[in-house]
Amino acid sequence: MTSAYIHIPFCKHICYYCDFNKVFLKGQPVESYIDLLLREIELTMKSSKMQTIETIYIGGGTPTSLSAKQLERLLKGIRNLLPFIEGNEFTIEANPGDLTAKKLSVIKEYGVNRISLGVQTFDNELLRKIGRRHTAEDVVKTLDILQNKDFKNI
Ligand code: SF4
Repeated sequence: MTSAYIHIPFCKHICYYCDFNKVFLKGQPVESYIDLLLREIELTMKSSKMQTIETIYIGGGTPTSLSAKQLERLLKGIRNLLPFIEGNEFTIEANPGDLTAKKLSVIKEYGVNRISLGVQTFDNELLRKIGRRHTAEDVVKTLDILQNKDFKNI
């Protein structure tokens, strides 16, 4: 099976415990990163013998820290460049509280069908101590929004 992992290394804030490859979003050349990421995908596909990508996973960082417009450019590029079978597993990572209706419409339009939600804990005091910006209540709200938008794999 051939799968693609695509990394978006930007976060709106940095959690205290985090060991992932990420940088603070503000002031970063996000547009250039998307351009070069798509170019790298294009060159990789040209030089490889891959016929089909079975699953796609966009992780981070926080992919949903991108604006709806940036997400659209990224997802459109990915779908144009990767030979992906519609309906296969296509995941994006998201933080509770980050997902607007506009971002979710874009995500759905380009075939993302699985949301990996960074909950960590439902203990608000612990969330505060580890430097998360959301609360347990934000998780529940985000789940409601996702279910209203008909995301079944969360
Ligand atoms: S949002 Fe995720 S990737 Fe970003 S700093 Fe927090 S744990 Fe790390």
